[in-house]
Amino acid sequence: MAERKKSAARGQSIKPAPELAITTDFHTNEDWRFEKPVWDKEKCIKCGVCYLFCPDGAIHLDDEGYYEADLTYCKGCGICSVQCWTKSISMEEAVKRLPWLIKI
Ligand code: SF4
Ligand code: SF4
Repeated sequence: MAERKKSAARGQSIKPAPELAITTDFHTNEDWRFEKPVWDKEKCIKCGVCYLFCPDGAIHLDDEGYYEADLTYCKGCGICSVQCWTKSISMEEAVKRLPWLIKI
């Protein structure tokens, strides 16, 4: 056991991580997100619950005081849609590229 630790400390038993082309091919969340939130302003009462629950801080106010997602940072998790109690946010398909279509 002591010998194993010693080897690991010298880096002998740790293989370097392979370079994955997939990580350099995605530049924003928009490149891989499968769904995006779409707001219905007719139903929205501007309560801000969606803003509070977005784990990525991707939701902000627009000029009219409604909330919307910055699709550069939105990862399409759908939490805002689930939390919106007036059902103002629906998730729409937004596949741009599929990971398995990327050349490695
Ligand atoms: S949670 Fe729903 S009703 Fe409240 S601001 Fe967001 S979209 Fe509008
Ligand atoms: S889908 Fe997820 S990441 Fe995108 S705005 Fe809604 S809560 Fe934020």
